[in-house]
Amino acid sequence: MSETVWPTLTDLQAWRHDFHRHPETAFEEHRTSGIVAELLEGWGLEVHTGLAGTGVVGVLRGARGDGPSIGLRADMDALHVTELNDVPHASVNTGRMHACGHDGHTTMLLGGARVLASNPDFAGTVHFIFQPAEENEGGARAMIEDGLFERFPMQAVYSMHNWPGLPVGAAAVHSGPVMAAFDIFNLTLTGKGCHAAMPHLGKDTLLAACQLVTQLPALISREQEAHKPAILSVTSFNAGDTYNVMPEQVKLRGTVRCFDMEQRSRIEQRFRDVIEATAKLHGLEAELDYRVSYPATINSPEHAEVCAEILTGLLGAASVRRELPPSMASEDFSFMSQACPGVYIWMGNGEDSASLHNPKYDFNDRVLPLGVRYWVELTLGLLRDGKLPAAK
Ligand SMILES: [Zn+2]
Ligand SMILES: [Zn+2]
Repeated sequence: MSETVWPTLTDLQAWRHDFHRHPETAFEEHRTSGIVAELLEGWGLEVHTGLAGTGVVGVLRGARGDGPSIGLRADMDALHVTELNDVPHASVNTGRMHACGHDGHTTMLLGGARVLASNPDFAGTVHFIFQPAEENEGGARAMIEDGLFERFPMQAVYSMHNWPGLPVGAAAVHSGPVMAAFDIFNLTLTGKGCHAAMPHLGKDTLLAACQLVTQLPALISREQEAHKPAILSVTSFNAGDTYNVMPEQVKLRGTVRCFDMEQRSRIEQRFRDVIEATAKLHGLEAELDYRVSYPATINSPEHAEVCAEILTGLLGAASVRRELPPSMASEDFSFMSQACPGVYIWMGNGEDSASLHNPKYDFNDRVLPLGVRYWVELTLGLLRDGKLPAAK
């Protein structure tokens, strides 16, 4: 067997800081994916570019011959956030920032590829999946539509996200739901604008919209079972711009999140009912654009047990949290774990870490070597030590 090459912390930091300085948002990750592809090629992987535009898949075959195949996935995109960190690697792309740590995710998966490529002591195939556009745009779905699972068949797929609030050196593994489903809505109410002193001559859109802001969340608190978590938030309300005019139009936006797909469609139906009834009550036109976005991310329980076992070996049993509630935030990894069994774990980014999407967030460099070791030990556990659960 060849000598195993582990990237040093300095190597990992250099990659991560470079990605952090040059953040690219959804489907524009040209520089980032170019670097990823070049590094993978340099280490001898078979590299496929252009999936969903900027997606990259690196294929590594084990030295022990044929066997099952798995996918390891990282996201590469940044956010439309203006960085407030005063660090040498701060973003040079104004208005764009790696505020969700995808720079760290990309780096850790590169590290795993580096190690495994230097000594592929396993049987089977690893697909290193670097996806674009996790934030809002569903890059995972776009890669699947581009033939990810047909071109690179795999029995299971794995991913991780850094987790502020969880100590460095700790991880969380959920058996079942881990991240919520995510829908968004845009609603335009059109009435009849009029003089504010003569409201009887108009159709009041503001009053109706205010009723909706209080009524819609009650679809959760009064109609959904309390033990099934769900959220409906109106997050944007735009209307009017002066003192003496009743506005003709109001625009509302917001989001709905839950874990159960049947519950999701019930909420959507009742949402539509309430909008229609309220519009009728006030004599308004309602134009609703309700977009079913990401499904819930549900970990395969048997595969999650293997990940927990690997993490226990790496971090110690006390640092592998199994009891944390799932997050109401969402993840487009859900499209991948719908298509084949998957596990999405959380890696602690530190109790003092700024929260995800905060302008002062920064991925914790101390997590980088842990993430690399997780990818390596997971792959060896699955493809060398026979821990991959049998396909059903
Ligand atoms: Zn994010
Ligand atoms: Zn993220």
